[in-house]
Amino acid sequence: MDAERIADLAQQQTERLRLLEQRSIATATHPLASALTDAQAAAVTRWVHEATGAQIPTRLAEFIDWVRDLINRAFNSKGGQAKAAAERAAFTAASLAAHQTGQLAAAMTGQHVPPIAPDAGPEAQAAADRIPVAVQEEHGQAIALLTAAGLAATGLAGLNSAFKRARRAVGRIAQGVAVAVGAAASHAVTLITRTLGPGVRLLWVTERGACAACRAYAGRHIRPGGQFPGGLSLDPRRTVFASPVSGPPRHPHCRCTLIPWSPAWPVSGLPLPAVLRRRARADWRPA
Ligand SMILES: [Zn+2]
Repeated sequence: MDAERIADLAQQQTERLRLLEQRSIATATHPLASALTDAQAAAVTRWVHEATGAQIPTRLAEFIDWVRDLINRAFNSKGGQAKAAAERAAFTAASLAAHQTGQLAAAMTGQHVPPIAPDAGPEAQAAADRIPVAVQEEHGQAIALLTAAGLAATGLAGLNSAFKRARRAVGRIAQGVAVAVGAAASHAVTLITRTLGPGVRLLWVTERGACAACRAYAGRHIRPGGQFPGGLSLDPRRTVFASPVSGPPRHPHCRCTLIPWSPAWPVSGLPLPAVLRRRARADWRPA
């Protein structure tokens, strides 16, 4: 098969990974996001009702206790639920990546590649494990904003900013899921690559629209278990990876992927690393 065609297929993989990431984030964030929306609507309604004529509700301390309880109930068990959703997403990502990589390797080698059992790996698990902690942190910060002195000074805007703070937990869940998905995909690719024999390398494929830092890694390759050099970027003002990286994702929402590659495989055309490198540079414009 031709290297341009392989590069097309590899970039389609990053698209599928992106879709999976988006779906997984929507699923994982929905319970907390909708609970917070409902809680905020209830809190604002009661505020408006009790603050008629006055700037703040007359029995402010009682109101605050009630809102805190509302927020606590909105957060109830959501960190654990989101962690479970991230674990499921990571497993799905590992399965998808294993399947896609098997097909791609078969196309490059011209031989059947035996399937492997999907495994999300330790980095994806660590990303999922960090979610409840992050959610707890934002929950605590939101509750801390709800003080009588604070609300007396800032009024309804202060109430809303406590909910805005709480909603940061939704962003932290999204980030955790994104990292879990990307890490699981990379892990699955690495496992397959190890089965393809000695000398088979891991090649960095950038997604379309990748950041300047990721683009500098396009077409670079390492042995499984090795590391890409740190500090590369097409834009000297944007070096994201100061230290060596084992592969994508290095930043949340990076959908770059790895694919197995060997210079010994019968792929026609320019060498695949050169094709990937050229593509990553061709459509890049300095911000
Ligand atoms: Zn990337």
